[in-house]
Amino acid sequence: MSTLTATPQRVRRLTAALYRFGSARLRRLGVGETHPDWQKRAEICEYCPMRVIRCGVSYCGKPFLQLIDREESIDGCGCPCRDKAKSPSEHCPIDRRGQPARHSASDCSCKWCRLSSAG
Ligand code: SF4
Ligand SMILES: [Zn+2]
Repeated sequence: MSTLTATPQRVRRLTAALYRFGSARLRRLGVGETHPDWQKRAEICEYCPMRVIRCGVSYCGKPFLQLIDREESIDGCGCPCRDKAKSPSEHCPIDRRGQPARHSASDCSCKWCRLSSAG
């Protein structure tokens, strides 16, 4: 049974979600950077099997508050796709084969970072 206990993992997820929410709000006000390829990134989301539509908005998996305890490479991160795509610090959680993306300081295997070869 899921309870609202504040495990360290849950606190980390909630903090990250709040940060993403705040950043998206600021970007809508014209504050903060927007990724130059955000439209291509958002388009990739539109064809992704992980995408969920709620009230006309595309999300990466179920919206965050509907599934707090999640594995991002399986469930998605729960963010609105367009907001996530606009954030320069965000990555897609999976690679083109649907496997967990590998991130390092110099490289990333996610679907977005492999835009040139994405089909
Ligand atoms: S961020 Fe990646 S996993 Fe999430 S909906 Fe977009 S393409 Fe799919
Ligand atoms: Zn990436």
